[in-house]
Amino acid sequence: MLKVIQSPSKYIQGPGALSHIGRYTKMIAGHVFVIADNFVMSLIGDTVSNSLEEHEVTSHFEIFNGECSSSEIERLSAILVSNQCQAVIGLGGGKTLDTAKAIAYESKIPIIISPTLASTDAPTSALSVLYTELGKFDRYLRYPQNPDIVLMDTSIVAKAPVRLFVAGMGDALATYFEARANSSAHKPTMAGGATSTTALALAKLCYETLIAEGYKAKLAVEAGVSTLAVENIVEANTYLSGIGFESAGLAAAHAIHNGFTVLEECHHLYHGEKVAFGTLTQLILENSSSEELEAVLDFCVQVGLPVTLEQLGLRDSEKLHQKIMQVAIASCSEEETIHNMPFAVTPDQVYAAILATDRMGQDWLY
Ligand SMILES: [Zn+2]
Repeated sequence: MLKVIQSPSKYIQGPGALSHIGRYTKMIAGHVFVIADNFVMSLIGDTVSNSLEEHEVTSHFEIFNGECSSSEIERLSAILVSNQCQAVIGLGGGKTLDTAKAIAYESKIPIIISPTLASTDAPTSALSVLYTELGKFDRYLRYPQNPDIVLMDTSIVAKAPVRLFVAGMGDALATYFEARANSSAHKPTMAGGATSTTALALAKLCYETLIAEGYKAKLAVEAGVSTLAVENIVEANTYLSGIGFESAGLAAAHAIHNGFTVLEECHHLYHGEKVAFGTLTQLILENSSSEELEAVLDFCVQVGLPVTLEQLGLRDSEKLHQKIMQVAIASCSEEETIHNMPFAVTPDQVYAAILATDRMGQDWLY
């Protein structure tokens, strides 16, 4: 199998980065289509338009309606075409960015992504998640290329809610362990090839950065400021984890996350919160060393990621075991990345690993 690494062409990060967006946009387009939801537009719309003007890039701004659906993509695409824009800029959270990727792809023009959160590793990827107009999961859209530019303004990211920043660390926590499992199983990654030593090294750096900087960064974000630790975590949550999951592989942690989405009780959780618990469960499945498990548990407890079922919103009830079995079955469905583990995984094993994780988490907390 060939090795494949894919990534955005340019990744730009730092405090005040948005006030330079015009300079980087100018390199690829003279007239751009900018989308953001109402809140983000009022927060940073002026910064972006001033920077574009400063670099003589003309623009058309449009408000995103809040759902990454086929009809919204069609509506925005039509406006883009009638304005003859040469590139798209998406500003905001996951749904806005996914919509921006989709409309740029429809028109075969470059895309610039500027996330206002570091809550997942999706921004750098060649992937969008499509929803129905009512907000139910519809399908994935996969693109032949990653975004042309990903620009993270850390002074904006540091002001976002702490829980979202921590959730980003939960998503990034899985990256190395899933990459390690996927690569030892010799399974293809999302990039469509084998894991390279480069991607594996980035995934490992992602984990090491979280352990070294995560807690310090969380405290700084609680104070509403960006420090060097915050800078390093934003890079780990977004770039290292993004390249890691796409080019080094996914395995059990994300499949177990997907399993938990079948339970109503877990709908209030962020992606990265469920992924963190899925990571611990993957380590139990692999019978990872006590040393490694303790390091991951310590990290989760320090930054505030869930380590027990109760923290996931699941209380002890008659039906609890039945619900965990539902999660286990869903996480082992045919298309799931759990089958990238280096051994065959059954729902019974996942069920046992989830309950063992919960017990270990309780023991760690109390
Ligand atoms: Zn993820």
